[in-house]
Amino acid sequence: MTRELRCADLMPGCNFVAQGEDDSEVMKKTAEHAKNVHKMVAISLGVEKKARAAIRAV
Ligand SMILES: [Zn+2]
Repeated sequence: MTRELRCADLMPGCNFVAQGEDDSEVMKKTAEHAKNVHKMVAISLGVEKKARAAIRAV
């Protein structure tokens, strides 16, 4: 089963989609993307909570 996080759920207008085998892989890719594209140096607890809640199975 693949897990997926659409960045648009957190950052409206962004079309990045992170996919992985499990939530931690998705979070890792999301953190990298957030750092490179959204200039987020570190993911705050609040953002991580929102991101985890937005992960769905595809
Ligand atoms: Zn994004």
